[in-house]
Amino acid sequence: MEAGYSQFYKRTPEERLAIIADQLGLSKPEQQVLKQHATADDLSLLVENYLTTYQLPEGIAVNFRVNDHDYVVPMVTEEPSVIAAASNGAKQLAKAGGIKATVNSRLLTGQVVLSDVKVFASIDDWVALHQNELLDAARQAHPSIVKRGGGPKSIRTRDLGEGFVSIDLVVDVKAAMGANMMNTMLEAVADVVQNKLHHTTLFSILSNAGDQSLTTATVSVPVAQLADEQQKAQQVATRIAQASRIAQLDPMRAVTHNKGIMNGVDAVVLAMGNDWRAIESASHAYAAVDGQYRGLSQWQLEDDQLTGTLTLPMPIGTVGGATKVLPLVGINQKIASIDSPEELMMVIVSVGLAQNFAALKALVTSGIQQGHMKMQLRSLAMSVGASAVEVPALVNQLIKASDPNEASARRLLEQIRNNKET
Ligand code: NDP
Repeated sequence: MEAGYSQFYKRTPEERLAIIADQLGLSKPEQQVLKQHATADDLSLLVENYLTTYQLPEGIAVNFRVNDHDYVVPMVTEEPSVIAAASNGAKQLAKAGGIKATVNSRLLTGQVVLSDVKVFASIDDWVALHQNELLDAARQAHPSIVKRGGGPKSIRTRDLGEGFVSIDLVVDVKAAMGANMMNTMLEAVADVVQNKLHHTTLFSILSNAGDQSLTTATVSVPVAQLADEQQKAQQVATRIAQASRIAQLDPMRAVTHNKGIMNGVDAVVLAMGNDWRAIESASHAYAAVDGQYRGLSQWQLEDDQLTGTLTLPMPIGTVGGATKVLPLVGINQKIASIDSPEELMMVIVSVGLAQNFAALKALVTSGIQQGHMKMQLRSLAMSVGASAVEVPALVNQLIKASDPNEASARRLLEQIRNNKET
């Protein structure tokens, strides 16, 4: 088996497909699907051992009003209810006057880590004394970012304990996410440390903490807007605030609360060609910033207003990385009318807040399944092979079914097809 994969990276996508099909017994129709989705463009060069292009649906979330601008937001997700919930949440928040968002700062931090340090103060003093030289080395390693008005801003040391010390470099990466340019600069800093301080470095890499790219979205919803009757509206507001509080107290609930936020955030980050794993890692680390994992958003009831706030680390870029390679990213930036990375950061966090509002409101009123169910049934219908024309009829049948599942979906689809034939 190994022989088949020898020098796999040197093969063409067609040759790889033939090997995979042969080794793993793929049928002709399966091979055809892989072939159909393979592209001849740059995507095949984006990853090693390219085989095909995996597709995900893109939809548009509507109704967003952020900082008095109206937005429609491209979202890429396989989860059926996400875009509907985002649009619905955004509509209610727009009616309340819209979301206000701010970018607290937009900087990236990287680390050069030293091991076997006997006395922290000796490294700390040396870095303080040589900080201009270290910052200069970082600048020279990536002069183009300096020309763009960015570049290294500061350097500091942290004692990590057990003989480990981190030299942290803070860089203004302008419109880029900055991972590669940061790593280049860090290696230049590491060279100076090794050559002048004569201390070996363990590794040099950016930090994905994103704590210098915090972005906040906030909204105040009049309680009266939450239901037709005043008493019911008050109840809904109280219950949303209580659900939010539970996510502050109980990590088990906080994980699900935050997953709902990331449903929206990831879908936009993906549509904008950014590194969603970085945003995920940063967000969950931020959720535990005080030592306990908590809900990322908070909703509070004061007088006749329900106020929600969400702060997330949002180290994204509008240039570089995959943004120019993925064909839809430029178009998606245009659809969302994004003119700067800061604007994109604010829109993404606003989507997270609207997603969270929609989820909490559904959760404490009708229950999450009611809204989800129709969308999930659509997925179920597709999973048993219903065509685009058959899906609505099958979903209608499944809504009426007492226990909609794969077996009943297959049976009902067969009935629909038989009825059509007769
Ligand atoms: P790039 O290496 O693509 O660098 C950014 C590019 O954008 C540079 O070529 C820069 O040009 C150009 N650029 C054009 N306009 C601007 C502008 N206004 N401001 C800044 N740059 C501009 O990408 P990044 O350094 O941003 O790194 C992001 C990539 O790194 C992503 O693909 C990510 O997945 C990946 N990555 C992520 C890691 C992580 O841990 N999260 C680790 C390693 C990689 P010029 O050079 O002329 O300045």
